[in-house]
Amino acid sequence: DLEVHFRAGGLPLPGRPTRLVRAVNGVSFTLAPGEALGLVGESGCGKSTLGRAILRLGDLTGGAIRFGGADVATGGRDGLARLRRETAMIFQDPYGALNPRMTVGEAVAEVLRVHRKVPRDQVPARVAELLTLVGLRPEHATRRPAALSGGQCQRVGIARALAVEPKLIIADECVAALDVSIQAQIINLLIELKARMNLALIFIAHDLAVVRRLCDRVAVMYLGRIVEEGAAETVFAAPKHPYTQALVRAIPEIDPDRRLPAELLGGEPPSPLDLPPGCAFHPRCSFAMPECRAGLPPALRPAEGRFTACHLYPAIPARS
Ligand code: SF4
Ligand code: MG
Repeated sequence: DLEVHFRAGGLPLPGRPTRLVRAVNGVSFTLAPGEALGLVGESGCGKSTLGRAILRLGDLTGGAIRFGGADVATGGRDGLARLRRETAMIFQDPYGALNPRMTVGEAVAEVLRVHRKVPRDQVPARVAELLTLVGLRPEHATRRPAALSGGQCQRVGIARALAVEPKLIIADECVAALDVSIQAQIINLLIELKARMNLALIFIAHDLAVVRRLCDRVAVMYLGRIVEEGAAETVFAAPKHPYTQALVRAIPEIDPDRRLPAELLGGEPPSPLDLPPGCAFHPRCSFAMPECRAGLPPALRPAEGRFTACHLYPAIPARS
């Protein structure tokens, strides 16, 4: 039931009404070792805020996070230390995430020394091993980010993430800035590493085609809430929520027989400062009914692992 609310425009002043940004609004999900969850939705729907909140890189205002049994949201220093030891994040901008003055070797070594306390004499061998693991060569260790391509930089970002020996990696739009052919290489690398190391992966992306290739499950976010969740195969083949249906229809389909009529979403999502009442998707939904404005849709879990929050589907009591 994670919640991230913050005040818009800084500290409250006398005479200035505080306005609350409801960026993440009661999100719940579980993730198993070795499983990849795609977190999708248009930009501004809270995906990055949620990802940062899970790793405690951003503040939470409510809810709990259990990581391997430990409460890391409210568990204080121990919980935080555990998160830092066992999780890592991969960012969108492969150049921006690296220090331009450090060589690749130094950037990876830094993580090994700080997070893994690897003895100094063992660092070079471990750096070479990590670079090889992500498809670079040990010789890349002496280069600086400016001498690398975007794809190579992202491999360094992944090597840094793996240096932590994480159980969970959160990747936020980590291929969005790369050319399509390079994207495929990085995705294949993540698929391979996930299987080899039994990594849990939260893959934040607005590109559903990429999520379909990489992820076992998908959670669709709209204005701070998960509106649909399930096995990636099922959600992409038979989306239930009108928002997911629109997103799935917008995926470019190469095979003309499988192409659905494009029904692109009109306009932008409303601001999280002024959430529409009821189902927040109702102003853009072609199925909207009076009850959609009146109240939140029931959170349905008709089957294990499948979830839809929409008034179109009759409430089925949760299984006990
Ligand atoms: Fe559309 Fe109503 Fe379902 Fe929201 S609850 S997605 S407005 S049909
Ligand atoms: Mg984002």
